[in-house]
Amino acid sequence: MKYITFPKYPLLLAEFVKSTVDVLLPHACISCNKTLSSLEESGIFCEECLQKLVFIKEPYCSICGKPFLSPGENHTCGDCILQKPPFILARSIVGYGEVIASGITRFKYGKNIGVGESLATMFARHNFGGFTPENFDFILPVPLHKNRLLERGFNQSLILAKAFAKKNNIPMDCNSLIRHIDTKPQASLEKKDREKNILNAFSLRDTKKITGKSVIIIDDVYTTGSTIKECSKILYAGGVQAVVALTLSRA
Ligand SMILES: [Zn+2]
Ligand SMILES: [Zn+2]
Repeated sequence: MKYITFPKYPLLLAEFVKSTVDVLLPHACISCNKTLSSLEESGIFCEECLQKLVFIKEPYCSICGKPFLSPGENHTCGDCILQKPPFILARSIVGYGEVIASGITRFKYGKNIGVGESLATMFARHNFGGFTPENFDFILPVPLHKNRLLERGFNQSLILAKAFAKKNNIPMDCNSLIRHIDTKPQASLEKKDREKNILNAFSLRDTKKITGKSVIIIDDVYTTGSTIKECSKILYAGGVQAVVALTLSRA
């Protein structure tokens, strides 16, 4: 055994085990867990689940990314006209439906890091459009409160952010923005209560690194946008010059 060195941290150990298992076992669909054939090229979803995924396509709101049902050009949606969001733009890959919800649930609540890595691969591969990643200085995952981090063992947004940062060769900043209030899970709340719940939950530990910089914040799901908006507000107040928000899925 002395020739085998195990990584020091649980997440690295999980990655080590996953990469070993990957070599030995065929991939399974991250949503329904069906074994994938070599013809199923995405290596992430089976053909059946892939068909059910609703990829967000243009036309959508040029600011918040909300898709429009009728064809035409991108324009600003009613919500963003009424109240301009505190970010330059937000983009997501897929609409929140059964297939992606199952993958996210297996990852976040089933603590399935392998599923998370596949979602992260999908996230990093995607061309979000509307901005140039190379023009941004840092990638920031939406932080979890330390109690949630201890309970879950990992931050799902950090796993997505890490893959995107690596693909685009942009440094991560996981220290400037923190969540200092242990809020109720947003998923359990109505729209009007989500904003109140998340209000003032984030703060900046330090502004040195990010003042005058452009950042991309990353989260798993955009529902009402309250979390992303609150993070953006705090970042701009701390001197950040530009904020773009990316999520895997949106309601
Ligand atoms: Zn499937
Ligand atoms: Zn909008």
